[in-house]
Amino acid sequence: MTAVIGSIRGHCAQCDMTFVLKPWQLNAIAIDVPFDCTYCHSGLQLLCHKQLRQFRALDQWALVRPSMIILTCATLLVALVAEWVGLLSVIGQFNISLVAVFIHCLVVRYARHRQKMTLNLQVIHPLPLEQLARIACARLCQQ
Ligand SMILES: [Zn+2]
Repeated sequence: MTAVIGSIRGHCAQCDMTFVLKPWQLNAIAIDVPFDCTYCHSGLQLLCHKQLRQFRALDQWALVRPSMIILTCATLLVALVAEWVGLLSVIGQFNISLVAVFIHCLVVRYARHRQKMTLNLQVIHPLPLEQLARIACARLCQQ
């Protein structure tokens, strides 16, 4: 999950604020535990199943970049060796390398795009207990 920290934002249904989720908040979402909103301190939880599935798929997207680096390096190396042993012309080797780098950039860019998301966080308990207690006290004092 370390690769995606900073690119996932949460939207609070209570105070309508959007904020970058911290690592511990991401962990809380991952293990389905409510956590406090940074601004209004409401208990928040990700209840949307579609977003939860997208969130859980993020780990796989984080693997795309390192595996693409290996794949591109291997392709460049093979093209270089093929040119060296005479299987490919210099222009052929150059074209293959160019296409490999181009595909690499496209895939990494797409993966990064998929990792950027805003989660719509639902309110579990709109008011914290101490605030509810304060309201109850105020009501009692009025009577
Ligand atoms: Zn909030």
